This record gives sequence, C-alpha cells and structure tokens, in this order.
Amino acid sequence: MLRTVEQLIEGADLAGKRVLVRVDFNVPIDDGEVTDDTRIRAALPTLRRLLDAGATLYLVSHLGRPKGAPDERYRMGPVARRLSQLLGREVRYRATAGPAAPEQQAFVAEAPAGSVTLLENSRFDARETENDPELARVLASYADYYVNDAFGAAHRAHATTEAVARLLPSAAGDLMAAELRALGRLVDEPERPFVVVLGGAKVSDKLGVLERLVELADAVLVGGAMAYTFELAKGGRVGASLVEPDVVDTAKRVLATAEARGVRLVLPADSVCAETLEAGAATAVHPSGAIPDGWMGLDIGPEAVAEFTASLQGARTVFWNGPLGVFETPPFDAGTTAIAKVVAGLDAYTVVGGGDSIAALNATGLQERIDHVSTGGGASLEFVEGAELPGVAALGAD
Ligand code: ADP
Ligand code: MG
Repeated sequence: MLRTVEQLIEGADLAGKRVLVRVDFNVPIDDGEVTDDTRIRAALPTLRRLLDAGATLYLVSHLGRPKGAPDERYRMGPVARRLSQLLGREVRYRATAGPAAPEQQAFVAEAPAGSVTLLENSRFDARETENDPELARVLASYADYYVNDAFGAAHRAHATTEAVARLLPSAAGDLMAAELRALGRLVDEPERPFVVVLGGAKVSDKLGVLERLVELADAVLVGGAMAYTFELAKGGRVGASLVEPDVVDTAKRVLATAEARGVRLVLPADSVCAETLEAGAATAVHPSGAIPDGWMGLDIGPEAVAEFTASLQGARTVFWNGPLGVFETPPFDAGTTAIAKVVAGLDAYTVVGGGDSIAALNATGLQERIDHVSTGGGASLEFVEGAELPGVAALGAD
C-alpha cells in the first residue's frame, strides 16, 4: 500500500520540514494567462493539507513541450500567478534555466519556512525525460520528503516522477490516491455487466488497452476513427475515413480474442459521413463498412447510437475513453453527446478518462453526474491495461 499524505502527516511532524511536490500544472496558457485552471485547482487539497501541517513547499511540474532547454513560451510564471490567487498566498517563483539551475538552487535556499515556491518547468532540463539520477539528486537536496500528486505524469519514468521518488521518503498526494482508488474499481472485480466505450483517433495508442479490455469487460463499444480500422480488418470499405493500415492485423487479433471469449465487441452499424470536415458540410449516413469513395466517417450514426444505448442499459460499471466522433465540429458531436447523456443517466459506477473525452463531456454539462473523471488520459489507459506505472511503483519503493 502507498503512503498517503494523511499518513505522512500522522507519522511525522512536518512543521518546518521541506516537501517537494510533483504536481501536474501542464495547463493551457494564452498570452501569459492560464486559460483553464482545472489542474491547478485539483492540486489544492494536497497543498493546503501540507501547508496546514507547517511544511515548506517546493512544487515542480512540466508545462508544454520545450525541447530540454529554456523556452519563453513555457515558463511557469503565469501558473505561479494563478496558483497564488487560488491559494490566497504568495507563491515564490523566479524565471531560471531550469529546476536545478544554479540560480534556481539559490532561490530555493532563500525560501522562508512555510512558504510555497514553484520551480521552473522541469522540461527545461533535458535530463528530466531521461530520468537522470543527477537531476534527481539536486531536486532531492531541496527537501526532506517527496509527494507525487501528478497522476497524469505517473506513466512516465522521468526524474521528477521516478528517480527522485527513490531518494526521499515519499507519499501519494490526494489526487493521485483518488485516481488509483477510482480506477482500481475498474480492474479489481468490477460490478457486472462492465461496459467499455472506446473512441478517439489513434487506434495504435489504444490497442494495448483494448486487448486487455476484451478480457475484463462484458461488452466493448468502439466508435470514433478507431472503428474504421476495425471495419478494414473485417474487409469493409471505409472511403476516406481516418485509418491506420499498419495495425489492421492487431485489430484482427482483438476481434478474434473478443469472439473466443464471448465478449461483445460492437462496431457502429452506421456513420455520419461527409466529404470535407467543416461545420455545415453536407452529410449522409452510410453503413460503417460501406462508405463511398471520398467520404469520411466522422461520427457514429443513428442506428449505432441506438445500439450503443441498448448495450449500456443495465450496465453496472462503465469506462469511457475517447470521443465517438469529431466532436469539435458540429454536427459530428451528436453521437458523443447522445452517449454522454446515456452514461450520465445510468445507475452504474462510471469513469471517463482522456483529455478530449473530458472536453466533450464538459461541453454537455454532465460531468457532475459521472462518478470519476480521470485527469490522466495516457496514465488511466496504462493503469487499466494493467501496466505498473513507474511514478506509482517508485512511491512504494522507500
Ligand atoms: P482522448 O484525448 O479522450 O484520449 P483521443 O485523443 O484519442 O481522445 O481522440 C480525440 C480525437 O479523436 C478528437 O480530436 C476527435 O476529433 C477525433 N475523432 C473522433 N472520431 C473521429 C473520426 N471519426 N474521424 C477523425 N477523427 C475523429
Ligand atoms: Mg487526446
């Protein structure tokens, strides 16, 4: 069992102690302002709890995709300002060359007891993604304890998620612990029937989890662009739909496994198609395996919505990852919205994960009626797939 922040506080007097907290502050920024602070808000319970216990906090996160060097677009300054507003107290921040740069180390050394310091973007240092022990050693020197609250980064073995956790007594933050509990219910004797809804664009990203899900679930409903690679595997015609021809063989294997195990793998019977992806483009409904040349399947069709709805009725556990159509461009959001309404209305344990899936769900206003909305897309898939997350394994290592 992982140590929680609560247990850390019970077991040790944190007054005057320094705690390094790995947070997920990878938020959208436009013109120097944070445009969606959901992830910052999500970290507040852990931070408040540690501050109430008298700890001095050093927070570290990655932001965007700088290439292992300082990049003005990805400085943590706007995040520090927003966090300061949300916490109602000063958040110390200095623009530096990276979280272990000499001027960063000096700034850390000047932190008053009980203060909050946000370190510079971890990915300004190329050693972060290399899980470099020397970078981890400098970060560990800042603190007496390490807390990881960044579930969304836990599937990566990076210096701030893995190597540093091995150097300090550590604990899982509240958000991390909640994610592990909520997702654990999916893989650990889920209440049946267990129905999975899988959509999105990249089949190759999701085939691993799909192979595992056809072993766990009673039914798997496949929508989004993924469905067309499966149609190809079955010998269908998919027109100009988005497909990944190199994974057709794996798709065939998934279909065979599902069949052998008696798991229902449901492809959308029909699709809403268009010749161009534009709001207001002329649309037509075609069987998903008989889409005319030049036409793309962009959403699940009305028959598919009816069949998915019927398959969801009576479910006791539901896991949904990936929009069922190009929800960003109406009217191709209709299938995703219809199924979101059905899932939100079920008397079942419901979990939704994935960045775009959450955006689609939020657009319907139904997120309050989902039991758990996972902050980690890739991490939640890898967890459900049964992979040991390096950031979680390392927390249990001390
Ligand atoms: P998540 O972020 O929830 O894991 P993904 O990133 O896998 O989801 O997929 C989301 C993307 O899939 C969206 O941008 C959406 O437009 C796209 N998509 C869904 N259905 C289709 C389709 N039929 N054709 C092309 N793109 C699609
Ligand atoms: Mg996505």
